[in-house]
Amino acid sequence: MIASTELGFAERSHRGRVWDPSQGSHPHAKHGGMAFDKDLVALLACPKCHQSLRLTNDDAGFVCEACRLMYPIEDGIPNFLVEEAKPLNP
Ligand SMILES: [Zn+2]
Repeated sequence: MIASTELGFAERSHRGRVWDPSQGSHPHAKHGGMAFDKDLVALLACPKCHQSLRLTNDDAGFVCEACRLMYPIEDGIPNFLVEEAKPLNP
């Protein structure tokens, strides 16, 4: 009886072309000069009230007009913790 796991593995590695980092850059792996895609922003929702968010003019964070809260973007990563959201000035 042959252990079929080894054969299966060899076959898989020939057939399934996994992404090879040496084959150029991945379209989503861009770094630097990162601005948030406006289409992506439209998909984001406030974790508190689930209304859509808007990006601030200086890309500092996402604003929920309904809650008057700003979810800050820290080092390019949006922080959607309601407890850490900054209240907007009235
Ligand atoms: Zn909200």
